[in-house]
Amino acid sequence: MDKKPNRGGPDAPEALMPEALTRELAHAYLVRRDYPAVLCRLAPDFSWVGTGVTELGFGLTELRAYFEQERQIYPGSFTLSDEWYHSMPMTKDVAVVLAKFTLTSDPETGLLVQAPLRFSLLWRLWQGRWLLVHLHNSVPYSEQGDCAFLNPAAAKANYAQLRRTAEQMAAKQVQEAKALDPLTGILNMEGFVAQARRVLGEHPGQNFVLLKFGVNRLRYVNQMYGYPMGDKLLKSIARRLAANCRAPEICGRMEKDTFAALMLFTDKEKMDERMRYLDSHLVDGKLRSTLHVPITFSSGLYLLPQGLQDGVKKVLDNALIALQSMPRKSMKSQYVYYTPEMSQLLFDRQQLLADAAGALQAGEFKLYIQPQVEIATGLPVAGEALVRWVKPDGTLLMPDSFIPLFEQSGFILEFDFYMLDLLCRHLRRWLDMGIALSPISINQSRRHLENEDYLEHFCSVVDRWDVPHRCIGFELTESAFIDFNQQVTDLARDLHRRGFQLSLDDFGTGYSSLNLLSMVSADVLKLDRSLIADYQNPRGQVVLRKVIEMARETQMAVICEGIETQEQLTLLQGLNCDMGQGFYFHRPMPAAEFETKVLRGETGPFPSTAPAE
Ligand code: C2E
Ligand code: MG
Ligand code: MG
Repeated sequence: MDKKPNRGGPDAPEALMPEALTRELAHAYLVRRDYPAVLCRLAPDFSWVGTGVTELGFGLTELRAYFEQERQIYPGSFTLSDEWYHSMPMTKDVAVVLAKFTLTSDPETGLLVQAPLRFSLLWRLWQGRWLLVHLHNSVPYSEQGDCAFLNPAAAKANYAQLRRTAEQMAAKQVQEAKALDPLTGILNMEGFVAQARRVLGEHPGQNFVLLKFGVNRLRYVNQMYGYPMGDKLLKSIARRLAANCRAPEICGRMEKDTFAALMLFTDKEKMDERMRYLDSHLVDGKLRSTLHVPITFSSGLYLLPQGLQDGVKKVLDNALIALQSMPRKSMKSQYVYYTPEMSQLLFDRQQLLADAAGALQAGEFKLYIQPQVEIATGLPVAGEALVRWVKPDGTLLMPDSFIPLFEQSGFILEFDFYMLDLLCRHLRRWLDMGIALSPISINQSRRHLENEDYLEHFCSVVDRWDVPHRCIGFELTESAFIDFNQQVTDLARDLHRRGFQLSLDDFGTGYSSLNLLSMVSADVLKLDRSLIADYQNPRGQVVLRKVIEMARETQMAVICEGIETQEQLTLLQGLNCDMGQGFYFHRPMPAAEFETKVLRGETGPFPSTAPAE
């Protein structure tokens, strides 16, 4: 027998690790009897083929039990001698180690004096760690000859088959890893598409529905509780979704907060039931109660036609189109089935986006201004700049039909500066006419907050027209204050230093919290029109009163948007709201009309606290 430990031949450098590990394992198992150290080296799919034909097939669980028994039986210490190891790399990630040694017991224990032991061990590199996948006490007792099997050349031949298996195994693992989402362990988009193709191919007669859903307010969870909590939520959803899918159904995570599942479909009632179940079970109850953010789902469903022609990607697209037609802010989970009209809508939206740059050049975006009035007197004291897209054929498009698209595509970054320039041009004209101006506020997308030199750019546009900064108010929506807290705090400070006013727009639409009022230093709080729309509801009135009081206590002026009736006005007068904006007073009007009606006093004064320039 070759007593010299093999330190690895020229063909075995990568396998040195497993060889050393084999030695460590042999000592932990046979000498130190340190079973926990052994267990932590075993892969979850570990198998031990045993010492002979009768002891085949130990799995990890049986092995644990076996160790427990051994703990009772072998209290004593042992030594290892005549150690011989030989390691062979199979692939980059798989190595085989042959080991042979003699175990000698402490004479005191008397249980076993000397035993020759021979093992073959298969190691696999698993997430950066070598783990033992297979252990075989392979050589029968000595009469079968000592070395035949442990002769490296013979062993290599014997392992040729094993190498092929190992290579296939490794290739399969790489393939599987590519198809899996590393965070949640379920399929990723690529894996999902491949699996869906297989499932649909194997079950041609079955009806399937593709569910695609987004987790609403994941952003808030990340923001308020940190990214690890957001990850925990995603993992929990993935686990529960996977548990809900039974073969041949499959599920996967498509991107950050979007999941998909290919499910069997019987009828809409059953599906309704299933959607309700998913809504209440996808988030772990304990996690849900830890998070003070309502986690809801927006889902799109696409019923796959029989004999699908278009391929799985198209199926996912259709479910996504349905999903995108859903509001993501909703406090309740919602779902909708895809219809072809949705595709048309999407097409129209894409067309709109394609036309936008040309429209900007052609001056199709017009400046409208809506006066803001003092609640006590009803007289205009300020205004808000609002865009209207007037197409060459005279069609007028409202901002809600294109601003969200511009935000998604990033075109808003250019667009907002265009509107600022347009506003400044008008302000310059009015200043030149000697009109004393109160601030006109302009809406700015939250997406600018990602740019460090944004404010510089903003100021350079205003300064190019030589417009005093106090003439311009700056509106950011509530969600920007939540998502970009630090950036907004810095921006507010810099805006104030430079003499601009900051308004918190649409308060009450997002996941508003009253402590937002204490966190931000805005000058004006703009209450969203939904707060006054429900003015007859006594609870709503309490909320309105409290918000106005809190805004006052934090030194913010309050503007209520969307005043449409005398009743609403009377209520706000009673609540001491400072200013109002709404159709009851004025609709947004073209800048030229604003000039004649409001600035030139047809509708009353437009007083300014500052003298005319
Ligand atoms: P916003 O900033 O909250 O503007 C107020 C919206 O409320 C305006 O809608 C205005 O027409 C509407 N409104 C005012 N009074 C009433 C009323 O009494 N009843 C009702 N039902 N509505 C009223 P508009 O002009 O359609 O603009 C919608 C949103 O589009 C704006 O909401 C703003 O977020 C965005 N937006 C408009 N212009 C621009 C822009 O130039 N840049 C950016 N980034 N966003 C803009
Ligand atoms: Mg606004
Ligand atoms: Mg608003």
